[in-house]
Amino acid sequence: MAGAEMIGKEEIKEIMDVLETGILIRYNFDKERNGVFKCREFEEAFAQYCGSKYALGVTSGSAALKVALTALDVGPGDDVLVPAFTFLATYEAVLEVGAIPIMVDIDESLNLDPLEIEKKKTPYTKAVIPVHMCGAPANIDKIVEIAKKYNLLVLEDNAQGCGASFKGKKLGSFGDMGIFSFDYVKTVTTGEGGMVITNSVDLYHRAEWYHDHGHDHNPKVSRALEGRTILGFNYRMNELQGAMGLAQLRKLDYIIAEQRKNKQAIMDALAQVPGVGFRGIPDREGDSATFLAFNLPDENTAQRFQNMLSAEGVDTTCYKRNLWHYVPNWEHFLAKSTANSKKYPFNDPTYKGKIAYLRESIPQAEDLLGRTLVMGIAVKMSPEKINQIKKGIEQAAKNM
Ligand SMILES: *Cc1c(COP(=O)(O)O)cnc(C)c1O
Repeated sequence: MAGAEMIGKEEIKEIMDVLETGILIRYNFDKERNGVFKCREFEEAFAQYCGSKYALGVTSGSAALKVALTALDVGPGDDVLVPAFTFLATYEAVLEVGAIPIMVDIDESLNLDPLEIEKKKTPYTKAVIPVHMCGAPANIDKIVEIAKKYNLLVLEDNAQGCGASFKGKKLGSFGDMGIFSFDYVKTVTTGEGGMVITNSVDLYHRAEWYHDHGHDHNPKVSRALEGRTILGFNYRMNELQGAMGLAQLRKLDYIIAEQRKNKQAIMDALAQVPGVGFRGIPDREGDSATFLAFNLPDENTAQRFQNMLSAEGVDTTCYKRNLWHYVPNWEHFLAKSTANSKKYPFNDPTYKGKIAYLRESIPQAEDLLGRTLVMGIAVKMSPEKINQIKKGIEQAAKNM
């Protein structure tokens, strides 16, 4: 739960600053707002935290994906490589811009396998979206290296890895663009919200224009007289979200440090169980530790251990059977049930590639996710709670 566990007087103070001016929109009303620009401040602090030049706040992580794909000019006729293990939003965003998602396999990091880029790319592939699932990095250096070799754009979906890093560099800052989610269950929360980051001034402007009806945000004129660029839509973050984000961002390093401690204590107990292995995180130092993923030798053993743990009050998720985070389980997606009756863009005549989402094409995901169990790690876990989990693990291991 992370950020939501930490809501306190700091968030209240930031939000009161906004309510005292009464200006909830981030643009315009410069006299009335009394110098309060929470979204702008949050963006600046966030960009700095990530070591990125530009950050743009938006309404959600899903919106951030759509805004970034649009800024990258991914659209009809293109396809995009997306890992089989991710939240539905990553695929939906590709469809939202009129492109086709190509499902690719994962490696032991449980994230996109860099070797899949060469294998699965088509003549129509424009971009690749590595997703840093469950708070830990993909092999992002290799992914970027191989993608560059083939002139593919890289958009990092870092909705789940806010504050995580790879070899000292923050996730989200490796690709051409990176996105974050601040929905209620993410590491930093603004209720709903998201962020796009990039080092490219051109991509930043395209994102900024698109997210606000093409407004060029010229500081020298009033909003009504601003220049218009491309057509866009409204994905603006509001000042209450910006205020929440500022308070939450200051707590991020503490959140991660506490989660790491809690995770380590539980890992120590699991390491005693014969046959248990751990997710192959490419840089353990960079793990944000929001989740603990461990594996057993095979799917049957994993299911049995999951049941034993559950009987001891220890809950885990097996993502191969999860309805929302594994492509082969998305029956509405596989049926191409987009929200329009024409099933656009699945049957877009400008797209020349073949569309198939077959379990046989992702053998590593089928194997790894079937025998991996994932446990959520909270910021606040009392010694009693951790002991109870450790005892549960010991007992479950005995009953195996
Ligand atoms: C949460 C999430 C999103 C979408 O974020 P929202 O803010 O909920 O729209 C996208 N990708 C992944 C991997 C996520 O976990």
